[in-house]
Amino acid sequence: MLKHLKESKCPVCGDSTVVGEEIERDILSKTIRIHTNGQRWETRTFLCGQAINWIPNFSKSELDEYYTCKNNPEYRLKLEKRKVAVARVRSFIDSLNDVDDEYKTHLKNGRGYSC
Ligand SMILES: [Zn+2]
Repeated sequence: MLKHLKESKCPVCGDSTVVGEEIERDILSKTIRIHTNGQRWETRTFLCGQAINWIPNFSKSELDEYYTCKNNPEYRLKLEKRKVAVARVRSFIDSLNDVDDEYKTHLKNGRGYSC
C-alpha cells in the first residue's frame, strides 16, 4: 500500500482504474528504499498508461515522462503525425525505381540500410 502518493486518478483524462502500484526496493537486499526524510519512492499506474511518481527528495508527486496518458491529445497528435511520416517514407521508398523490390521491402520493414 502506498503511503505518500495520494492521486487516485489520471490528471490528464480522469481515468481512475489503477493497474499497478510499486514501491522502489534496493536491488541487492530487496528491502524498501527509504529516503533520509523517511519517505519512499512510490509509483501508481493507471489503465490509460499514465504513471505518477512520488519523489521523496521534493516531497511531491510528478507525472512520469515515459509512461504517459494514451488519451492525451498531444500524444494522439504525435502518433498521428508519426503514422503520416511512415506513410510518406514508405511511399518515397516505393518511388525509388532503380532499386530492387527485395531491398525496398527490406527498407520498409525497418531492417536498416545494410545491403
Ligand atoms: Zn489518462
